[in-house]
Amino acid sequence: MKLGIVGLPNVGKSTLFNSLTKAGAESANYPFCTIDPNIGIVPVPDERLKVLTDLYHSEKTTPAMIEFVDIAGLVKGASKGEGLGNQFLSNIREVDAIVHVVRCFENSNIIHVDGSIDPMRDIETINLELIFSDIEILERRIARASKGARNDKSLAKEVELLKRLKEHLEEGRLAKSFVTEDEDELGWIAEYNLLTGKPVIYAANVSEDDLADDGASNAFVGRVQEYARKEGAEVFVICAQIEQEIAELDDDEKKMFLEDLGLKESGLEKLIRASYSLLGLISYLTAGPQESRAWTIKRGTKAPQAAGKIHSDFERGFIRAEIVNYDNLVACGSYNAAREKGLVRSEGKEYVVRDGDVILFRFNV
Ligand code: GDP
Repeated sequence: MKLGIVGLPNVGKSTLFNSLTKAGAESANYPFCTIDPNIGIVPVPDERLKVLTDLYHSEKTTPAMIEFVDIAGLVKGASKGEGLGNQFLSNIREVDAIVHVVRCFENSNIIHVDGSIDPMRDIETINLELIFSDIEILERRIARASKGARNDKSLAKEVELLKRLKEHLEEGRLAKSFVTEDEDELGWIAEYNLLTGKPVIYAANVSEDDLADDGASNAFVGRVQEYARKEGAEVFVICAQIEQEIAELDDDEKKMFLEDLGLKESGLEKLIRASYSLLGLISYLTAGPQESRAWTIKRGTKAPQAAGKIHSDFERGFIRAEIVNYDNLVACGSYNAAREKGLVRSEGKEYVVRDGDVILFRFNV
């Protein structure tokens, strides 16, 4: 599961990406952190882990991780092969969700590719390239599927869908807003892996001065929010430059720095958590003297499959899961106290694991 960071040149993508990877490098011993200069594996901030580590005197704390890819170089005309356009578009096709950085900060020293600051135009420029690229995919599919459609009812149905979807995109709309409840059609659309079907978060990159009121006094931000609302997307207000500076501080310095700015946590932390959630991911927790750890699962995962994240033996030999809700555990002060109060539940194979479940798996070897 990974997110791609996209946006026009000079909007602050690399600055944001660098602050993400710097924050990631901090949490160390992940050797794959530097596998590729454009890929960053970043810890998901989770206050609960710190609390569990203290409660259990754990030797080690291991956060959940999430992967970001810096997809630079998307420009107007990319879908027509401008620059290395097609290559960048195919990089986007490989990600599960998109963080779209839009420039909302003024700075006459940093030129904008289109000469002025206008986040709405920027969003439309990028979205149009994504739409063009999707249309091309659909056209290729139509050409291929049409050949057999005369003798194949299912293919004929698919061609009809492809044409409707293409019309939808040609009106400047995203695949995400295409409505169908037909199971076949939903299956086909998922197969096409369209760029404009991917979930998006907009990161409104503002100047430092705009951070205190979360961008409320920045008119550009308001317009991005209004646009995103129609699209059903979220907007995060960040200052990439400040994030880069914060990422270099140690924990105490960071806390003081944020307090000075009147903030509880950095924009980056909020953005990482929102990205995690955008991917449909949640964390369950394990805790003990050796390690307190967050484990990533897709929302809706059942207990045996969740156990399988730790080890395949746990899934194969799954008997049951002993679960206490994080808040209950902390309120009781210890696992035994929670058990005495009847707050430790025993769950079986059909249990759907929830975010913040603290779990002990019982299994046969
Ligand atoms: P990219 O081309 O989208 O990757 O943009 P960069 O991250 O390279 O940023 C372009 C320029 O804008 C650099 O000089 C950054 O220092 C500057 N920049 C990025 N974010 C901010 C910001 O939040 N505020 C200000 N004032 N400048 C920024």
